Amino acid sequence: MPQVELKGVEGKSVYVETGLFIGNEFVAAADASQINTENPSTGKVLASLSAAQKEDVDSAVVSAQKAFKGSWKSTAPAQRGQLLNKLADLIERDADDLSSLEALDAGIIFRESKGLHIAQALETLRYFAGWADKITGQLLDIPQGYAITRREPLGVCAAIIPWNSPLMITIWKLAPAIAAGNVLIIKTPELAPLFGQKLASLVKEAGFPPGVINIICGEGSVAGQALAEHRGVKKISFTGSGLVGRRIMHAAADSNLKKVTLELGGKSPSIVFKDADFDNAVFWTTIGITANNGQVCAAGSRIYVHESIYDAFLLAFAEKLVGTTHGDPLLPETTKGPVISANQKKKISQYITHAKQSGIRLLVGGQDISGNGNFVPSTAFADVPEDSRVMLEEIFGPVASIAKFKTEAEVIEKANSSEYGLSAAIFTRDVNRAQRVSEALESGQVTVNCWAILHANTPFGGVKQSGFGRDMGEEALDGWLTTKTVKYNILPSEDE
Ligand code: NAP
Ligand code: MG
Repeated sequence: MPQVELKGVEGKSVYVETGLFIGNEFVAAADASQINTENPSTGKVLASLSAAQKEDVDSAVVSAQKAFKGSWKSTAPAQRGQLLNKLADLIERDADDLSSLEALDAGIIFRESKGLHIAQALETLRYFAGWADKITGQLLDIPQGYAITRREPLGVCAAIIPWNSPLMITIWKLAPAIAAGNVLIIKTPELAPLFGQKLASLVKEAGFPPGVINIICGEGSVAGQALAEHRGVKKISFTGSGLVGRRIMHAAADSNLKKVTLELGGKSPSIVFKDADFDNAVFWTTIGITANNGQVCAAGSRIYVHESIYDAFLLAFAEKLVGTTHGDPLLPETTKGPVISANQKKKISQYITHAKQSGIRLLVGGQDISGNGNFVPSTAFADVPEDSRVMLEEIFGPVASIAKFKTEAEVIEKANSSEYGLSAAIFTRDVNRAQRVSEALESGQVTVNCWAILHANTPFGGVKQSGFGRDMGEEALDGWLTTKTVKYNILPSEDE
């Protein structure tokens, strides 16, 4: 299969393979099917890649099954950890290439990709490398003797990845899946698959046996759906929209009842109480909606501010949002990249237009950025009604909806009124209030005096329609393991 040469940071060449990575080889897709991926800063095609069809998913499953039944099952746990550590070292070595690919293909600012996403991926790989030989069961007394529980891998698993921080989210799945002893098929997002092609080369270089990690690019409705329906796949870990999450659950129910974990979207609230450190609250709430252009599942897109500091907050928030320079994500001076696609730009712009037409107060942004590339201004609306679309629906773009509140009870009710529950942020100096409110919030994660910062050792995932299952932390391992109970009926000695 041919390679593609792209120009990354500082004009350096980055080479990527174009085939599907199955059994440690890059192969063409059935019927030589291909898809193009574009640069969202320019709209130009970057590369044509093999696009997995149903037959290719079948061969990835066969390759993974062979690996699982072969040497992988008997590979020492510590060896799995060593391979994960080796992969981390290679990703670190080639971080410039990987971040260049995320900048070119997904519009992620190079600096953020390298400093945040890749750094987080490395932390996660090394964290789970340490877990590989520490997965234990229990020893339980029973009247007949004793029972032991063994925590066993599921076998062939699949991960379906979105485009918004593709390498980091891939590693959230890959690291615990492999530490737990599974074999994996990763379906990369068609809008930003290039990172996966490079990752595949590193998987091979790290020395994973053929078939243990397979990486296939392809359309969700074809390759993703085929994985979800496949009887040979024992688990799907999915990050993406609620709509597709539901489709995957249906497919799992209609096929082999494979295990499913879902990381879906959110409409995460940030609550600024009157006793908050004001500058710190402004800093984090602006990051909460501008990081990765708001294309973050945990984006702090609803901001509730106590009435006593509301006007001052609006002024400070608006000031922070206007000072961005949009442009090429590879350049150091760029502080704002494009959103992923023309479609995503259209969707975000429709929300902005609808809010303006509904008479909601536009605080900052909201204008159309013309020219090449999918650029959307950082935008905030103030005094946003609770029943408006921009307050209720996930926009997945840099659009904040701000409203004031009077009492703690009122803001808890508003925060919990969402159908989602992924992340919430509280800003207060009062530890009692922080404790009370974090207990009351219906959310998989609550951060106090900061916004959704991620750590490899802390579980991340949602409640309500934000999904179920956890990435990262010890708890993530649960999603990739099953428990077998072995019971011993201790027989009397034959001598007696
Ligand atoms: P999406 O449309 O749900 O796509 C996510 C992945 O699912 C992609 O790889 C997609 O493939 C694949 N897919 C599409 N149809 C499928 C099907 N029928 N069966 C199996 N897989 C299928 O989401 P997106 O547009 O990429 O991402 C934006 C959404 O994801 C947002 O709504 C956001 O809330 C959510 N999100 C959540 C998190 C989180 O951690 N909770 C993180 C990121 C994003 P292709 O796109 O390649 O066709
Ligand atoms: Mg792209």
